[in-house]
Amino acid sequence: MSNFVWCHGPTCHTSHTQDRIRGVKGSKVLRTRKVAQTQYNSGDRMSMYSFFCSQGCYNDFANKHIERVIAIAPRTEALETPIDVVKEQARDWSGNTYMETKIIRVDNG
Ligand SMILES: [Zn+2]
Repeated sequence: MSNFVWCHGPTCHTSHTQDRIRGVKGSKVLRTRKVAQTQYNSGDRMSMYSFFCSQGCYNDFANKHIERVIAIAPRTEALETPIDVVKEQARDWSGNTYMETKIIRVDNG
């Protein structure tokens, strides 16, 4: 496996796991994990798992750099999805009727 990146988690190298231990007795270290670049996490399938070994390392990175992450695409106003709210009579598993509320997305395009 030579096609990899180092996990971008800022504290990946401090987690106490066996697979991070490197070195010989007397000079052992905990090392950042490698993240293999495979057909499942590269190219069209690139995702957070292309750069982070775990959800925890991803969260650590996002929390550490949250101001810069948000600056990429700041949300300055609320987004809205047009809907219709429809109430319909429905039956449960035993045949009793009840009113069901359905939210139906409306395409205005
Ligand atoms: Zn990691």
